[in-house]
Amino acid sequence: MSQQGAARMEELVSLCARRGFVFPSSEIYGGINGFWDYGPLGVELKNNLKTFWWQRVVREREDVVGLDSSIIAHPRTWEASGHAEHFGDLMVDCRACKKRFRADQLDEAEPCPARQGTSEHDLTEPRSFNLMLETRIGASEDAAIRAWLRPETCQSIFTDVKRVREAARQKIPFGIAQVGKAFRNEINPRNFTFRSREFEQAELEFFVHPAEAERWFETWRDERLRFHREIGFAKSRLRTRPHAKQELAHYCRAALDVEFLFPFGWHEIEGIHQRGDWDLRRHTEYSGKDLAVTDEETKEHFLPMVVETSMGIDRTCLALLLNAWEEQPLPDGETRSVLHLHPRLAPVQVAVLPLAKKLAEPAGRLAQRLRRRFAVFYDEAGNIGRRYRRQDEIGTPFCVTWDFDSETDGKVTVRDRDSMAQERIAAQALPGWLVEKLEERP
Ligand code: ATP
Repeated sequence: MSQQGAARMEELVSLCARRGFVFPSSEIYGGINGFWDYGPLGVELKNNLKTFWWQRVVREREDVVGLDSSIIAHPRTWEASGHAEHFGDLMVDCRACKKRFRADQLDEAEPCPARQGTSEHDLTEPRSFNLMLETRIGASEDAAIRAWLRPETCQSIFTDVKRVREAARQKIPFGIAQVGKAFRNEINPRNFTFRSREFEQAELEFFVHPAEAERWFETWRDERLRFHREIGFAKSRLRTRPHAKQELAHYCRAALDVEFLFPFGWHEIEGIHQRGDWDLRRHTEYSGKDLAVTDEETKEHFLPMVVETSMGIDRTCLALLLNAWEEQPLPDGETRSVLHLHPRLAPVQVAVLPLAKKLAEPAGRLAQRLRRRFAVFYDEAGNIGRRYRRQDEIGTPFCVTWDFDSETDGKVTVRDRDSMAQERIAAQALPGWLVEKLEERP
């Protein structure tokens, strides 16, 4: 990473901790590598992203339904999926500094701090390392069975597919979507939340007739790119990268990464995969339950093919923060720190600020009314300019000021975060005005 990139990351990490977006888990014990906690603003940002994904992928479609499956699945699941056998990275250890690296990421390793006369690591031969986090189920040690925390959310979608399809009266083509936690014992967690050991995924598995797999892969690629532009990613910081044949995972027929330009380079935030019939075939084999479908008209009995879209919630939140964050020079020579988040995703949608303490009562009433429908922050402390800056830094798109005129004309001043322009709006009309702004598509 360039020095400038590293400085930008460092500043963002500090902003995130200071303002309560994201900070190390178990911080008072010194943190735990690869685990993060989302504070009051972070959880709102994350929830807004998940809700918007659910809206576009599930609610607005007739052919997609939702699922919330358990994190621990029957251990046979991971044998069938291939994870027990294949899900690993080759790793190497440095005998001198005891650090562990992924064999394919050695070029990014820092110099060895422990050797005399050289900064090169003293590396072991590569060894395979399974990335699944293990646990045990059952009270007594002897009788306990080994189980794993899921390394991806999709496998339960495959094992539940028959039940869900029948319950939801769906026919091919149709999809099942899920948002939830996944766990990977990453060898080298780094770049803030980008590579963690506990993270969230928003996944869609779309089941299609084999003859239509190619077409649906393209449809979902386009849908997903539209989504990323809708949440505000600049075109210049978003690209797709098709996988070369030798890069494809064991189950994959075609794959494409949606990548964002992080300060540490272009990296994946979402994977779009054509998984073929691998998963359904393997689960049919391992469970003995037929997961094929029959076309009612043609009577054809076949295993559907799967097109998958898999977005990392944490990586996308990190990308959203980096994409939105600006240290903006102002005409008066000052600089303001501002997050240009899409109003739909902003943790606080509207801040209500009485111009003077004397006006706290009517302003408080307005805030309370708005709270029924919006994420509201009420702030009466400090001068108005400083209050605006505090909201800019956390990405609040609109600040509403109740002033002395509001008492007589029933109007408030609404200040736009990005343009800093102000307009007078009737307090009564505010909810409708805000809804329109939140729904706006870029
Ligand atoms: P990478 O090659 O970066 O390890 P991957 O190709 O293994 O990622 P997938 O298995 O396709 O990732 O998972 C889908 C999405 O889940 C990724 O696009 C990413 O956003 C997210 N994801 C995967 N691993 C992690 C992780 N360790 N920390 C945070 N998010 C992750």
